[in-house]
Amino acid sequence: MRGSMMDSPLLISSLLDYAATYHGDTEIVSRSVEGPIHRYTYRQALRRCRQLANVLQGLGVENGDRVATMAWNGYRHLELYFAISGMGAVCHTLNPRLFQDQLIYIVNHAADRFLFVDLSFVPILEAAADRLDRIEGYVVMTDAEHMPETSLPNAHCYETLMEQADDDFAWPQFDENTASSLCYTSGTTGHPKGALYSHRSTVLHSFSVCMADTLALSSRDAVLPVVPMFHANAWGLPYAAPMCGAKIVFPGPRLDGASVYQLLQDEAVNITAGVPTVWLMLLEHCANNDLQLEHVDRVVIGGSAAPGSMIEAFKTQHGCEVIHAWGMTETSPLGTVGTLKRKHDALSAAEQLALQVKQGRGIYGVELRIVDDQGKELPRDGVAFGELQVRGPWVIDAYYRHDQPILDAEGWFSTGDVATLDPDGFMQITDRSKDVIKSGGEWISSIDLENEAVSHPDVTEAAVIGIAHRKWNERPLLVVVPRQGATLSKEDLLQHLESRVAKWWLPDDVVFVDELPHTATGKISKLTLRKQFEGYVLPEGGSAGN
Ligand code: ADP
Repeated sequence: MRGSMMDSPLLISSLLDYAATYHGDTEIVSRSVEGPIHRYTYRQALRRCRQLANVLQGLGVENGDRVATMAWNGYRHLELYFAISGMGAVCHTLNPRLFQDQLIYIVNHAADRFLFVDLSFVPILEAAADRLDRIEGYVVMTDAEHMPETSLPNAHCYETLMEQADDDFAWPQFDENTASSLCYTSGTTGHPKGALYSHRSTVLHSFSVCMADTLALSSRDAVLPVVPMFHANAWGLPYAAPMCGAKIVFPGPRLDGASVYQLLQDEAVNITAGVPTVWLMLLEHCANNDLQLEHVDRVVIGGSAAPGSMIEAFKTQHGCEVIHAWGMTETSPLGTVGTLKRKHDALSAAEQLALQVKQGRGIYGVELRIVDDQGKELPRDGVAFGELQVRGPWVIDAYYRHDQPILDAEGWFSTGDVATLDPDGFMQITDRSKDVIKSGGEWISSIDLENEAVSHPDVTEAAVIGIAHRKWNERPLLVVVPRQGATLSKEDLLQHLESRVAKWWLPDDVVFVDELPHTATGKISKLTLRKQFEGYVLPEGGSAGN
């Protein structure tokens, strides 16, 4: 027997409609690419989105067409999120940090018809345009006054198009499983692959972001997503904020510590989200200038492991609670979130920290399990580790225009992460399966070693990679960026690690560098690092005693 409740489709347009009706005067504040701070309300944003939908129709965009964006976090990008998906087309966010060949591959693979671009990225596209065969036109996201001379073919000015468009547009109603947006993963091997989200997956994911046990986003919050809107939809925050009526603050192109600090202060932001690298810059800026984060109470950290020292610094120096989260482009991206349970109040600070450095616990909507090499489920005892698999309504079931099946017979998606699960559902990643260091048949976790290395006060960033070893197969090499002005020796570091990790985990060598290579999504690029250290000869007599 079917239930007899309304079958209203879960559509992205409904999020903004809700915000404009019930939180019409709540602000969306953006640091614009042109320079000044721009502010308007949800009510005004909705009007502009309707206008933009008319612009898109005028350009000839139809249902299911891919429309690309290459833009910072800002109000025009938000308008594109809602207008493109709202009218039934697909918003394809491009990561400007990708190599040119990858970018060209992605745009052609997606067969994007139009490309909306922020002023900063016009030169990137000018250099690539003659290989972007399917693009019919470009729209530069600025006003007539700032419109540059450009060699881009069929280039339009965003505000000029907007001025000519009506704001009378009724969002179409359609099947909630319709594609809404597209995001390619950087693909450390092979070509990048596209995750094609649906209206349904996006709206369900937004509910999850707002749940008290996840990010608890609400109308009482002002949220600043440092995580880019071209990286897994800024972790879903641009959709979740209108769902609950939270104020949004967009940092635009300026992600340095000083600029982010200023916005957090000026706009009384209380929740912010980003990868560890940006927090490193912010914490350093605060420490160097004796500054305090006065309004922030929650800092969401994901994308790479949040080191315990960072979680502690936010807590003790700024009174902020870190919410450590894990996810992937393929999971929309929220997968696990590290909020503590009621019973954890009784734990000591050190015990709580030990839980917070884990990647978070299972949330409603994403099933988790770990399996061995044969696909057999492993116990949830916090000790056994194996490949992490996920399943749920905002998890990918096939890559866009990709024939190979990616799910196993029971519908599980393999994440490529190696993890433990404890009885409370806390998941801890020991490594990406390709980064794990295999020493004498045992596994060494590069993440654990890196976390311990950055807990040394004179270390800014650290990465551990496996170096081929005659006897042990692989042994760890620690590559470190020392704090500016610090005098740090290999012996200091090894001594620091000795009391923190098993003896056979101790790196065979330590190399000091000025900077580490990062991927387009701000993670340390182990692939580049491994290439950089190809053929590296470890000193004899390493510490492998296993
Ligand atoms: P890309 O590989 O393109 O950067 P994603 O952002 O989708 O794309 O990366 C997802 C991966 O990032 C995860 O599979 C995991 O390895 C890593 N990751 C995400 N969050 C964390 C975290 N909190 N701790 C450690 N690793 C993380």
